[in-house]
Amino acid sequence: MRMFAIGLAALTTMSAGAHAAEPKSHHVQKIAKDIYLFEPTEAHINSNTLVIVNQDDVLIVDSHNDPRSAKQLVADIKTVTSKPIRYVINTHFHFDHVGGNEVFGDAEIIGSVFTHHQLSHDSLKGRTAQTILGPNGLIQQWTDGLKKSIAAESDPTKKAKWQKSLAEITASNRSVAEEVETPPTIAVKDKLTLYRAGREIQVIFPGRAHTAGDLLIFLPKEGIVATGDFFENLKTCCGFWGDAYPAEYVQSLQVLKELDFETVVAGHGPTISGDAAKLKITAYQMYLLDLYEQVASFKRQGLSALEASRKLDMSKHKVSFPDTPGPAEFRGEKPDEAVVRIYELLDGKDYHAAAPY
Ligand SMILES: [Zn+2]
Repeated sequence: MRMFAIGLAALTTMSAGAHAAEPKSHHVQKIAKDIYLFEPTEAHINSNTLVIVNQDDVLIVDSHNDPRSAKQLVADIKTVTSKPIRYVINTHFHFDHVGGNEVFGDAEIIGSVFTHHQLSHDSLKGRTAQTILGPNGLIQQWTDGLKKSIAAESDPTKKAKWQKSLAEITASNRSVAEEVETPPTIAVKDKLTLYRAGREIQVIFPGRAHTAGDLLIFLPKEGIVATGDFFENLKTCCGFWGDAYPAEYVQSLQVLKELDFETVVAGHGPTISGDAAKLKITAYQMYLLDLYEQVASFKRQGLSALEASRKLDMSKHKVSFPDTPGPAEFRGEKPDEAVVRIYELLDGKDYHAAAPY
């Protein structure tokens, strides 16, 4: 049992309060005393940051997409505290969670062994970053779409909104290009616990999952867990699987499920209540098992990854994850990224095999 329960109804959006300035670039949600979710208002790819204000210092979880947005984060954190940011935890190595690391030069940066390795080896040239930022990547597709919409739109309000989004994406892309990749100064193998004047902060490696080095940040007294993209959101469930370990993921999710939490702060989007999260974690485990078994069976039958992508039927999981387009509706000309990844793992060709974790 918790000392106190934090229900969704009790969550409040920060107003000016005792501080004169309002946050400019974030929705700030107070989750518990001195603990806040900073969710970027122009999120696009950008990730959440959990801000934990300790007696003498501040610890944050994830540093945002790029140095520019990290600087906006630092400015907005000043609206809730003037204490120094001394710890930055990276939930995993994906650029949208670590791109601001260089801005926190005086802080200790904590990440998994794998995250440390990736950020020491030019991770922006890797699969995730290239899928999103590279030629014909997600960002390119978005900006092309936005430009078309702006040109065709006659409503000035809508036009202005899209123009603002386009300007934000362009600016954050430019900032990513100028970024200095900054690896963690402290690498966590299995578990690290920080004690800060009455507050306990556990940093747990649950096993390979969304990447080979996701970390869970668990505050046992407050019943809060930050998951990064290890557990993303209620509707679309699954995020990017190009670096994932779908078979091991099922067991790693069990580690999360067994923590005594009331609130989940995911890598993107709003907080999730503990009860809803536990149901979704089970549903996610079922999804992963089904996905893995179907794909493995198609591979045994000699189907190509593209044929397997077209044949995969995940429609029964729509009950749990209504918004996920999922491989069940696969219409692409290239095979689905999850299928490619499972084929690669089954062939013993994991492109991260040489990296420590
Ligand atoms: Zn990620």
